[in-house]
Amino acid sequence: MTTMQTVFTNARLADGHLQDIHVDDGRITDIRPVSSHGMGTAVVDLCGDLVVPSFVEGHIHLDTSFYGGKWVPHRPCTNGFDVHERVAFQAENMAAAEPMAERARKQLDLCIAHGSLQMRSHVMVDGSVGLASLETILAVREEYVGMIDIQLVAFPQSGILKSPGTPDLLNAAIGLGADLVGGLDPASFDRDVTGHLDVVFAVAEKRGVDVDIHLHEAGSMGAFTIEEICARTVALGMQGHVAVSHAYGLGDLGADAARKMAATLARSGVSIMTNAPGNHNFPPVALLRREGVTVFSGSDNIRDSWWPYGDGDMLHRAEIIGYRSGFYTDEELATSFDIVTAAGAKALRLDGYGLEIGMKADFVALPAAHIPEAVVAFPKQRRVFKAGRLVARDGAVLR
Ligand SMILES: [Zn+2]
Repeated sequence: MTTMQTVFTNARLADGHLQDIHVDDGRITDIRPVSSHGMGTAVVDLCGDLVVPSFVEGHIHLDTSFYGGKWVPHRPCTNGFDVHERVAFQAENMAAAEPMAERARKQLDLCIAHGSLQMRSHVMVDGSVGLASLETILAVREEYVGMIDIQLVAFPQSGILKSPGTPDLLNAAIGLGADLVGGLDPASFDRDVTGHLDVVFAVAEKRGVDVDIHLHEAGSMGAFTIEEICARTVALGMQGHVAVSHAYGLGDLGADAARKMAATLARSGVSIMTNAPGNHNFPPVALLRREGVTVFSGSDNIRDSWWPYGDGDMLHRAEIIGYRSGFYTDEELATSFDIVTAAGAKALRLDGYGLEIGMKADFVALPAAHIPEAVVAFPKQRRVFKAGRLVARDGAVLR
């Protein structure tokens, strides 16, 4: 059987040239100068819009957002930021929230409409919720097959050693369908770096899955934990399979210490996720990349118990990363863009990603002359194509 070919004509590529993108059976089969097309070819005119690969939402929480539901005012911690207290507030909020599946769908639609077609979401798996949240999100993931590719991380939000039964639950979560095992502040939350990482890496080794650990720990404590994560990654031959999310501590280090740590991360193949949060030290993006570290990004929390911000737009996130990093030149703006596209794909080890012949036809068309302009303007008029099929337009998902 032959499938009908679709040609996306007048596609402006990153180099400014207008090209035809040929798509067959969901894959890009050719990219060549604009020409006329014969019978039996469907033509989609992109009218000179910039065409970029779909965005990689590398860190989000599908189970805990209130987006699309009623507004939940932020409740400050009693005595400065305290992860334990925030987790407690979250439990109270979740008990009163609308059904999880509905909230997850609204958040997914938000992300798809902005052009994110690959995602990694953390989902709570611990003594407080067991596997219930994961079961809900796994079912929602099934509904979205063909719309967005989703990796799920079994995330011990209440700690591993402090939350009875969590080691077994993390293992069971992988059996149920989670793709990665997570962790949370081994030193400052569980107060036992070795014990915490023993569990995380044992599940990873036993199940053959990747690791993505939340690390809010500051300064030298965070640096120590990162060194321990790197050492275990190398010992198990897991280079390229481990990520540290947030890694705020890297932003507290002096230039020499940060460079040394970056070299260790690069050597160990451990990637760093940052969402460039406001009013908080965050990893030195340019320095890390210069040393060869894969830096990727995500929205993290969108209107949840942790903060009221987030819009599910990874192009806007690229702007935030650039803004907070002091990026001005075209090259620097392209760096921000790379973090939400190709570098994200590398960190998530995505197959068939990119605007190249042979890759999946997952791309976004938007009104910008080039990538630096797209990063600073993040225009909302977008056409989003998954496997060559239009799945969203101008902020609305099409079904
Ligand atoms: Zn997170």
